[in-house]
Amino acid sequence: MTQSSTPAHSPVLVWVTGAAGAPADGSESFRLAKADEPQLLVTDLVATRGDGVFETIGVFDGTPVNLDPHLRRLARSAELVELPALDLTVLAQAVQEAIDAHAPVPELTVRVMVTRGVEGSGTPTAWIHARTADDWSRCREGIAVVTLDRGLSTTVPRTSPWLLPGAKTLSYAVNMAATREAVRRGADDVLFVSTDGYCLEGPTSTLLVQHGDTWTTTPADAGVLPGTSIASVFEVLRAEGATVREELMTPDQVASADAAWLLSSSRLAAPIARLDDTRLTVDAQRTAQLISVLKGQYPGSR
Ligand code: PLP
Repeated sequence: MTQSSTPAHSPVLVWVTGAAGAPADGSESFRLAKADEPQLLVTDLVATRGDGVFETIGVFDGTPVNLDPHLRRLARSAELVELPALDLTVLAQAVQEAIDAHAPVPELTVRVMVTRGVEGSGTPTAWIHARTADDWSRCREGIAVVTLDRGLSTTVPRTSPWLLPGAKTLSYAVNMAATREAVRRGADDVLFVSTDGYCLEGPTSTLLVQHGDTWTTTPADAGVLPGTSIASVFEVLRAEGATVREELMTPDQVASADAAWLLSSSRLAAPIARLDDTRLTVDAQRTAQLISVLKGQYPGSR
């Protein structure tokens, strides 16, 4: 399928009716739709309750990075919020359809959205949205980060799983509010801290900290999203012979690191140049390596 009338950089929408099984009316499981026309019903539970799950996938020079891990994490998030089991084959095909329909650009951001659907229908609503990625070049040179209290302990997965720690749900209003608070405080991004005093993650990113040859991130069982980017980076670092580990860190331990980054699939590796009032060294060469790993373009990486 082609979209010959699509202007070069306009977003692409693929509407997916078969995300949780073939459509009952025998129609195709997904189709291209107009990205600039209304599609979603106001009675969809994502509109009334923010009830759904999603993924953001980076596509570099036309190739999606970590597509399978992203879709597996989507399935896990769906399971955590008790949505019907997802058909990952259909979703993978729909993602490819969106990439193919978009004008070729160096960096594309593809969102896969699955909601609980229209109230009472019992059928999830799903779509893929592909658009040219934001320009992250300034962030890739260094960001100022403030620590903010998340108001949750690292024991949340054990004590209060209904808070959905580690699920990528569509209720990101709190994460976005924290990002606005960072801007109010003159910073670019946030590092959430638990009530028991440990660094967790950013509102849309995973923490990576380097002390010499030892690279550390937050344990997933502390209630953070298990990142696809950190998994790719750890694979390369491990192959280099470095020590990689999941361990709780205090803000002081991060501030005294040789270097630290916030990792995510679209912005990639953003070096932390300042954490609250402490300046950190930005290692431009290492950042370039991490970015190339996360673009799926580093020799030996996926
Ligand atoms: N943590 C949170 C809360 C996120 O929203 C994200 C990504 O959006 C990440 C971490 C990083 O995940 P990934 O590396 O898979 O993009």
